[in-house]
Amino acid sequence: MTKVKNILINTSYDQISVFNYRYGTIITMQPRNAEITIIGGGSIGCAVAYYLAREGYRDLQILERSEIASQTTAQAAGLVGQVRPTKERTLLAMESVKTFSKLYEETGVDPDWRQTGSLRLSLSHSRDKEFIALAEVAASVGLEVEFLDKHRIKDFVPQIGSELITSAIWCPSDGYLQPTSLVNSYLAGAKSLGVSIATNCEVTQIEVKQNTVVALQTNQGKVSTSLVINCAGPWARDIAMMVGVDLPVVPVRHEYFITDTVDGWHPSLPVLRIPDVRLYVRAELDSILCGGWEASAKSLPLNHPTTAFMSPDTDFEVLNQFHTDLARLVPNIDDIGLRSVLKGYPTFTPDGRFIIGPVASPKGFVMAAGCNAHGVSGSAGIAKHLVESLTSSPSAYVLSLTPQRFQNQRTNDNELEQQARSHYENYYSNSLLR
Ligand SMILES: Cc1cc2nc3c(=O)[nH]c(=O)nc-3n(C[C@H](O)[C@H](O)[C@H](O)COP(=O)(O)OP(=O)(O)OC[C@H]3O[C@@H](n4cnc5c(N)ncnc54)[C@H](O)[C@@H]3O)c2cc1C
Repeated sequence: MTKVKNILINTSYDQISVFNYRYGTIITMQPRNAEITIIGGGSIGCAVAYYLAREGYRDLQILERSEIASQTTAQAAGLVGQVRPTKERTLLAMESVKTFSKLYEETGVDPDWRQTGSLRLSLSHSRDKEFIALAEVAASVGLEVEFLDKHRIKDFVPQIGSELITSAIWCPSDGYLQPTSLVNSYLAGAKSLGVSIATNCEVTQIEVKQNTVVALQTNQGKVSTSLVINCAGPWARDIAMMVGVDLPVVPVRHEYFITDTVDGWHPSLPVLRIPDVRLYVRAELDSILCGGWEASAKSLPLNHPTTAFMSPDTDFEVLNQFHTDLARLVPNIDDIGLRSVLKGYPTFTPDGRFIIGPVASPKGFVMAAGCNAHGVSGSAGIAKHLVESLTSSPSAYVLSLTPQRFQNQRTNDNELEQQARSHYENYYSNSLLR
């Protein structure tokens, strides 16, 4: 196996522009009595706050235990892909792209959205067939995609060898963004519409009276509230347990690396997805960012002990395999050193679908979790669905994402965790993802 040299990290963040703003947002307002309280200030919590405020909801606050966008969101690669196996997922991703394209205009804060386009590369004839099905879904909802033969691929990415590639889907409206900038942009929009934000504010209990949420206990005191929206990422299950609701939100380990500078790589290159070797790749300035979905995923147990910061150990064996597979397509990177590894626990659900909407009981408790590793790219679409779930007549699709689907049928934890891991392992080929 090719060994990746210089693994790991002797790099200060300011060498990598995309990560410059990490941990930068500190907002120190106090928790207060509010009609609506959003728990969690990651990409989902901030998108939900912005969407609700834009829809005319008032008296909203975000409570964040740490700093804004400092947890799972801070680790994300920022890829935004719209080519998905179902119409609903494609439409959700398209809603996000539409939003990213106008966020700067709407909020005055740039989400650092780069619409570079993306290439999904096939290395096998069976994958070619799957690509045809994906392109059909895209066409059915008006997403522009184009098939490229292997000879045209080099026009888009001269940096890769095309010998192994059998076909490719080009999606010109895909791209990538800087997750923390995106969150700052949502926040600016939300704040301008009156949303308040308290950081270093941990929710420790949720008070329910007559089967209705009435208040929250925090490390900064008690506040009354009548609607709680749980956007706590890998901690979402713990928060739901505070009201006695046991949901299968499974944190699954995920990681990627950023290399040292590689000749010819630059930020305008398209994002690459290579399902046959389970990899995604993009330029990070003049370096390569590469991550993947290893075949044997590792998850935390559903009843894992809660700690405020969850970061897995780096798994060099997995990263070396990513590098080996990448080196088959990108010449001259055998000896490239690594600059950085980013990692965390995005959550997966046993059916590979988001958990969005009110729980059956108690009243006033709503979920926006189980992001299945696209809670940055999907944040705007998820927030839109969340808003719809609070209306009197949500669509059948939004209703199908309800947490209530898990509330009445609890199977054994091992089985649920295994099902969630299998969605991770089959991330690029799972036709069940909806
Ligand atoms: C290595 C890696 C790469 C990824 N790449 C991508 C990508 O390219 N594209 C993409 O779309 N997604 C990607 N993801 C997934 C994406 O990061 C997540 O889906 C997304 O960030 C989830 O956002 P969140 O707001 O739900 O969670 P988080 O960002 O974790 O936010 C939850 C917040 O809740 C807070 N919280 C928890 N408990 C409490 C409490 N009791 N009181 C108050 N606050 C609390 C936490 O402090 C935290 O800030 C990646 C993830 C990883 C780990």
